[in-house]
Formats: sequence, structure tokens, C-alpha cells
Amino acid sequence: MESSRGPGGTLPQAAWRLNNDFDSIYDDELLLEVERLNIDSASFVQMEQAGDVAAQILETVRTRGKQHNRVTGSGGMLLGRVARVGTALAELGSPLAALQKNDRVASLVSLTLTPLRIDRIVSVDPKRHQVVCAGQAVLFASGMAAKMPADLPESVALAAFDVAGAAPQVTRMTQKGARVLILGCGGKSGLLCSAAARRAGAGRIVGVERDEASAAAARRLGACGEIVLADAADAVAVATAAIKAAGGEFDLAVSCVNVPDAEMAAILATRDGGTIYYFSMSTSFTKAALGAEGVSRDVTMIVGNGYAPSHAEKTLELLRAESVLQEIFIERFKTE
Ligand code: NAP
Repeated sequence: MESSRGPGGTLPQAAWRLNNDFDSIYDDELLLEVERLNIDSASFVQMEQAGDVAAQILETVRTRGKQHNRVTGSGGMLLGRVARVGTALAELGSPLAALQKNDRVASLVSLTLTPLRIDRIVSVDPKRHQVVCAGQAVLFASGMAAKMPADLPESVALAAFDVAGAAPQVTRMTQKGARVLILGCGGKSGLLCSAAARRAGAGRIVGVERDEASAAAARRLGACGEIVLADAADAVAVATAAIKAAGGEFDLAVSCVNVPDAEMAAILATRDGGTIYYFSMSTSFTKAALGAEGVSRDVTMIVGNGYAPSHAEKTLELLRAESVLQEIFIERFKTE
């Protein structure tokens, strides 16, 4: 697939437009019949505030050949059925070669780099940020997809796969006994990260949510010892309350909110030498980098890479191991 705008050599994520004419596809590509999109939370909320979500998705995909939100720069992932497995995928060592025609799969690479054509949108589900549609998409040899598990409803597994990078990375970043802060602890990734931090042996986990309704699921999960009700954009108030609740500054802060301006709350709450994991797509590199400099805080700031080895399997394992977490996901994301 070539990009049709932008400098030569641009890779698909950075390309302004991808070729989504699937009449001719290459042998190192996998063709999917698309049934459902899972729009990432930051993008969905932005489009909801701007107006008609379906119309915006159709326009973006028509003009860009991919679901790449112009404002947030983020995408999501999709659920579909394998239509054709390129003959060169096996010799290239692509994990996609293990798939077979008609397998039901979720893509594990962003819609911002996935060539996509949408023929029609059937419905938009604002609660789950999912879009039932008909169309086609292509995954490249370097891409990944997970077969849908037999023991979970598809819409639930899709929701978990959307944020599959988060919990495995929190697991490896959490030191035994650590103080861990989770901004947006009641959301999809916030719940998974809280559970992962608890299982990794965190000493004290404090969550932040902006109101009681959003905090309810986190309270039910019980991974956070305390939940502070505050707006993550109110950095001083959040940091002061969270540090008090934890009995000291945090070793690790994880940002799982879906709105801008949460950078400074994490920076002010984290100790010198501590780590901040910005999983949120609403994170601004400049606000984080210059904000930390501005308060002379020596923290390691990690961009929320959506990939970690075996992230899909590890996230499903976490859901299976944590019965309350699984119940919450089923109640929130099951459609059928
Ligand atoms: P989600 O389920 O919508 O959760 C976000 C949570 O943050 C919600 O509980 C929300 O509360 C809360 N929140 C929003 N504004 C807040 C504020 N001002 N103060 C405190 N809490 C606030 O989202 P998600 O699916 O977990 O995704 C979280 C973020 O990760 C999004 O930015 C998403 O785009 C991003 N993401 C990143 C990757 C990656 O690879 N790095 C992959 C997928 C998604 P309410 O419900 O009250 O709004």
C-alpha cells in the first residue's frame, strides 16, 4: 500500500492518506471483511463533541483511506473475518500467516495505519465506542491480529484488546511495595492497570476519577486502596489529595484518562526518580516535557506504546484471573 500524500518514504501511520482500493492487493497482505470498529476513547469523545460520529468516520475514511482522527491523531482497532491470507506472509515470518480464511479476528495494530474502506455504517454505540459497519481492511505482514476467544463475548474481547498494551506494561513497571497512581481508574484501561498493579505487588494504589459514577466500578474492583474524586486537569488539587491518600509521593503514575491536560497531575504526584506511563492518547509531549522541566521534576516519562509482547493473551489472562474485573467488562461491553 502506498501513501498518496506526504513525503516519499512515509510509513502508513504518518501518511496522510492510504490507498484503500482493494481490487488489487499484495501477497504480503491479509484482507479482512470488517464488521465492527472499536474507536479509541479519546477519538470517540472528540467526535461526539464535534457532532455526528458516523458522518465524521465516513468522511475520514473516504478522504484518508483509514480511520485516523485529524484532531486527536488516534484511531482504534477493528473486528472482522479473514477473507484472504496473502501467499507471501508465511515466508516473511508474519504472525498473520497462522490465520485461516473465515477466522474471526481483532486487529492489534492501530486504525491510523490500517487501510480501510467502509461501505455502510449500521449503528454507532456511544456507550462502548463501537461502530457496527460493513467494509474491508488490509493488514500488512508486520501487523498483528488476535483470534476472538471462545469464552468471552466478542464485543467484550474487542474492548479489552483495544487497550491490550496497558496492563502488561504496568505489570513490568510496578515494583513490589510501590505507590501507584492511576488517573482515570474507572475506565477500561484504568481498571485493567489497577488490577495489574495489584497483582504485581504494589504497596498502595490510589485512583483518580472525576465523579462518583465513574469511580463506582473501580470501588467494586477494589484494587485501589483509595479513590480521589477530582478533575485530573486540576493538577495541584489531584497531586495534593493523592499524595495524602498514599502517604507519600508516587513511584509510578499511569495516565488512563481520555481528555487532555492530565500531564501535570501525574508529574506533581510522582517522586524524583519515579516513572510516569502516559497511556492516554490525549497526552501532549510538549506539555509533559516542558511541564516537568518547569517544576524541576526528574521523572522518567514513558509513551504508552500500544504493543507489548503477548499483550492480547496477557490481557485476556488478567480478565480470566480477576472475576470482578471480568464481570464489570461483561456488564459494560457485552452487546448480544
Ligand atoms: P475510558 O474507558 O473512556 O476511560 C477513561 C476514564 O477517564 C473514564 O473513567 C473517565 O471518566 C475518566 N476521566 C475522563 N476525564 C477525566 C478527568 N478530567 N479527571 C479524571 N478522570 C477522568 O478510556 P480507555 O479506553 O481506558 O482509554 C484511555 C486512554 O487511552 C484514551 O486516551 C485512549 O484514547 C487511550 N488509548 C491508548 C492506547 C495506546 O496504545 N497508548 C490504546 C488505546 C487507547 P468518565 O467516564 O466520567 O468520562
